[in-house]
Amino acid sequence: MNEQKLSKRLASVAHYVRKNDRVADIGSDHAYLPAWLVLNQQIEYAVAGEVVEGPYQAALKLVKQRKLDQYITVRLGDGLDAIVTDDDISAITIAGMGGSLISDILERGHQSGRLNGKERLILQPNVGEKTLRTWLMNHSYEIIAETLVMEDGRFYEIIVAEKVAKTVKYSLADLTFGVFLRTGYPDLFKEKWQADLLNRKRVLKQLEQARQPQLEKIAEMTHMIKLIEAL
Ligand code: SAM
Repeated sequence: MNEQKLSKRLASVAHYVRKNDRVADIGSDHAYLPAWLVLNQQIEYAVAGEVVEGPYQAALKLVKQRKLDQYITVRLGDGLDAIVTDDDISAITIAGMGGSLISDILERGHQSGRLNGKERLILQPNVGEKTLRTWLMNHSYEIIAETLVMEDGRFYEIIVAEKVAKTVKYSLADLTFGVFLRTGYPDLFKEKWQADLLNRKRVLKQLEQARQPQLEKIAEMTHMIKLIEAL
């Protein structure tokens, strides 16, 4: 992957960026996503935010090499601290992290006022999708689209959400399996949850065979297995 050819996963994230959005890509690493968006004339302004020095330097280097300085501002910062009011951000992309870390970044942005509710959120959690959907629901974000992709043998979900002026309510099944994924990607969806089910059954066996079985974890795992089987 590079700024000219995105991975399938990041291309799916890019798909939901609207033309001329002002994008904040948080956890940007090499800044491949904002660079691709600019090079493909989708956007003219982006902030590439990074909290770690190495990936921050990698993003700076790419932006300089491709002479994208006037379009992409690279900032070292934790989560949404990388953006300022004048950026006038209209879309936030956060990809390649766990759902709880993404939720934590959004929560801190919400608390600090850097997340103002006008931004479209385009999120790609590697794990912890339920945690992320729950955060979105609890903060009145409606999930407007979802994509499921498989890349290098791994499944990835992309969740797109926008803030609405009403209470958002999702069922446990929506939060766990997605609002659109069950019907949108029948084969891939089935494959994902069949693999997940096998994995959970293996973990359950290990939990049950442990010298001191953790009853709470066993009950949680059994509940999830039943939920997936019912699906
Ligand atoms: N977004 C790219 C992608 O999807 O290919 C890079 C994903 S990489 C696995 C995750 C990146 O997020 C790392 O470069 C890490 O330094 C950065 N990161 C983790 N926590 C962060 C935070 N709180 N604020 C900004 N960046 C963060």
